Amino acid sequence: MAYYDLVIKNAKIVDGNCNPWFWGDVAVKDGKIAFVGKLTGEIVAGKEIDAGGQVLAPGFIDIHAHHDFQLLRDPIMLSKIKQGVTTHMIGQCGISAAPIKPDKVELLDRYTGFARAGVDPEWNWQSFGEYLDILDGLDLAINVGGFVGHGTIRINVMGFESRKATTDELAEMRQLANDAMAEGAFGMTSGLIYPPGVYSDTEELSEICKGLKQYNGVYLSHMRNESNAVVEAVKETVYVVEKAGIPGQISHHKAMGKKNWGLVKDTLRTLEEARQRGIDMTVDQYPYTAASTTLRAILPSWVQEGGIDRVIQRLQDPDNRVKIIDEIKNTDDWENMFQHCGGPAGVMLVYTPKTPEFEGKNLLQAGEMTGKEPLEAALDIIIANEGSDTTCYFMMSEDDVKYIMKHPLVMIGSDSIPAAPGAKCHPRTNGTFPRVLGKYVREERTLRLEEAIWKMTGFPASRLKMHNKGLIKPGMDADLTIFNPDTVIDGANFEDPFKEPLGITYVIVNGVIVLHNNNYTGETVGKVIRRG
Ligand SMILES: [Zn+2]
Repeated sequence: MAYYDLVIKNAKIVDGNCNPWFWGDVAVKDGKIAFVGKLTGEIVAGKEIDAGGQVLAPGFIDIHAHHDFQLLRDPIMLSKIKQGVTTHMIGQCGISAAPIKPDKVELLDRYTGFARAGVDPEWNWQSFGEYLDILDGLDLAINVGGFVGHGTIRINVMGFESRKATTDELAEMRQLANDAMAEGAFGMTSGLIYPPGVYSDTEELSEICKGLKQYNGVYLSHMRNESNAVVEAVKETVYVVEKAGIPGQISHHKAMGKKNWGLVKDTLRTLEEARQRGIDMTVDQYPYTAASTTLRAILPSWVQEGGIDRVIQRLQDPDNRVKIIDEIKNTDDWENMFQHCGGPAGVMLVYTPKTPEFEGKNLLQAGEMTGKEPLEAALDIIIANEGSDTTCYFMMSEDDVKYIMKHPLVMIGSDSIPAAPGAKCHPRTNGTFPRVLGKYVREERTLRLEEAIWKMTGFPASRLKMHNKGLIKPGMDADLTIFNPDTVIDGANFEDPFKEPLGITYVIVNGVIVLHNNNYTGETVGKVIRRG
């Protein structure tokens, strides 16, 4: 007689290691996978699921998520569970909630604003370990692990100062990164388009990354440029990790702007060549042709300097307005999002709470509605919403999205940025994983099912050296997702970013069912995962 807590029978098993699917049963005991194969003989199971021929895969691992603060209000993370995600990784793009020195709280509060989802944190932690302890005390429904953000570290040491770090400052930043690693971070991320990351040079990044080596850490970068200079930016990332002797990953890889479409062939070739030299580089990607940030991102960088009050002052000055609009229209020696979108029709307002009439409209339409030139309307909308908006930028080509997705160095990560209560977000937050399985596996055959699952499970797990996750085999954590491969699809779109996905039948975290037929079961069995 064999005793199990949970038995799943009659499943098409996709094991997360890119192997062809096979029919089988899986048995779970004490939160771990205890058996994979054909169950025979007498079995006593606490619970039994008949998969009915649906796919049983490892729970999806979202290697790129921005829920560092949202978790404090919403530890359940239904948006993730409903996609089949059982583990997500926070602290992305240089932005982590820790470490934080008491005298730097105000600065970090400002820095993390766009990823806070309306949460006003108590900041009742200082070290990375203390922050993880606070997460540990929450009723988590899925697992969470974290990276330390280079921007956060730099703020602790140098505030928002726009200059090269001194030797002492470098040493202090490296120490903070080391401490975070020792307390459970999986690596360090950077966001080199945002202050203060934008002020750091290549040497600073590689010097701090050197400290990660002893901890087996990885460096993930939202690079300095993702448009005209994307190839140079990839080379910088390779240089940083080569100098530091650690693995590296390009975050949310893309080439923005029509004239840059196709450059992803060069970037990925650059990474292949780096690998041939022994430099361990990988990539993650979300499956959409639009990026998401605020409308302010259309402004030249000199206009964006200082806080939002300074930005609004500049936008209210008539002479400045003429100059700003002229620069946006006629210069391209900077990351000009407006031009990369091919003009006003490619810039879509998703969330503009003070001017809700524009939600779901692009800047061309906003211009028509106001009887103004689209960029004039845009500046007014930035002022009216005081910079707090969500805007999607249609800047990538579908061919590039598919080219990147098919590449063997690329895994899936949602880059989910949470919405504040009542606000709206990019649909990737709620649709990424079912979208890959429905649109790119079933409908368009961009990926084989087994490849797609590997890019969501075994591949990210191995990247993170999370050796007990991402595969269906005995001894692994019982994080599992069952879905119908004939119906699975994302629901979220740019008009309704919260529309739920279809076809996810069961989600199991640490051996416990947390979702059945799109209903959350109320279980809070998620864990904080620390490196090592
Ligand atoms: Zn980013």
